[in-house]
Amino acid sequence: MTIYEMILTQCAVCAAELGLSSGKKCGRCSTRYCGPECQVQHWKEGGHDKLCKLIKKAGGAEQYNANKKYAEAVAVAATACAEDTKGQTCYICTQALHWKTKEGLVRMCACRGTAGFAHVSCLAEQVKILWAEAEENHLDDKVMNARWHRWDKCSLCEQDYHGVVACALGWACWKTYVGRPETDQARCLAMGLLGNGLHEAERHADALTVKEAELATKRRIGASENQLLIVQTNLAITYQALGLLDQALPLKREVYSGHLKLQGEEHVHTLIAALNYASCLVDLQRSEEAKSLLRKMIPVARRVLGETNDLTIRMRCSYARTFYKDKGATLDDLRESVTTLEDLDRTARRVLGGEHPLTRRVDYELRLTRAALRAREGDVESLRNAIETMPPGDA
Ligand SMILES: [Zn+2]
Ligand SMILES: [Zn+2]
Ligand SMILES: [Zn+2]
Ligand SMILES: [Zn+2]
Repeated sequence: MTIYEMILTQCAVCAAELGLSSGKKCGRCSTRYCGPECQVQHWKEGGHDKLCKLIKKAGGAEQYNANKKYAEAVAVAATACAEDTKGQTCYICTQALHWKTKEGLVRMCACRGTAGFAHVSCLAEQVKILWAEAEENHLDDKVMNARWHRWDKCSLCEQDYHGVVACALGWACWKTYVGRPETDQARCLAMGLLGNGLHEAERHADALTVKEAELATKRRIGASENQLLIVQTNLAITYQALGLLDQALPLKREVYSGHLKLQGEEHVHTLIAALNYASCLVDLQRSEEAKSLLRKMIPVARRVLGETNDLTIRMRCSYARTFYKDKGATLDDLRESVTTLEDLDRTARRVLGGEHPLTRRVDYELRLTRAALRAREGDVESLRNAIETMPPGDA
């Protein structure tokens, strides 16, 4: 069985980036180095003579790293939840402190009151058993899928875990399946889950490593075009979170044309990809390209999804935003943007309610665009005033 070093892409001594295959590996424990010098130094001064056995025993460098990161992530999550979980007990093991790991409790879902407090270890143990049982009995996809989601959804409130708890569960999941062959379904899913968890905890640099590794793995094992598009979409989100818009843009373009080719312009994935690509163009001040793409796709969204669908609202909002961002926009452009946003604001309030994040977003864009319009009208006003107050005869 081959275990690829996927998450560990750095030299253990100098932290040089090794990518997916370059450098040297310790023959016993698979710890990675940029070259023989770093390897020798690690042995002589870095304590590798003692560590090597430990790492090998833990299952190799990748597994060792996963275990270590998992323990750190659990500590971070328990600390973040300490205030909220004070005086509570785990709904799985009924203890406050975990009997073996001594870890504290967490809760970051939609559970309220005294419900939903648990240890990350207990949550992980539960889903591990449920998944193993589903695998053993070859349960159907629907059941498998539901069980898998216990890694990222609370079984009590059925909402996603978020923040550092999602991150701890991501490491728990990765640590559980990392030792399997890279074509294994659970190992593939675990990589995606870890990437999302790191994103949730805003560990974007770490998320980038994982997502790049995930894309490379999926390409190598011949994943379907659709699976690759999902990973690329997630990767582009991370590029954007890191402010790497120039890297996000070509990826978003690729995802959009991929969905277009695969599923046609009326598919919801194609529409989402178009919006993502357009938003990136707007952020890069390439508003002409954004406008022409949105002009093409908004009528499709209106026809297929309807006027009150939140994706349609998002696309129209993004279109209106191109004018406010565009220095070459005319007064009429800005007026039309304000009218569009007022219309969207009414729709969003009626359909989603005033507190919905999208309603607030529309409201925010509306206020900005109104202000931009007022400023421009003010210029015209003062110009007119200036002309009217000019002494007669001078013109
Ligand atoms: Zn090195
Ligand atoms: Zn070693
Ligand atoms: Zn517990
Ligand atoms: Zn819950």
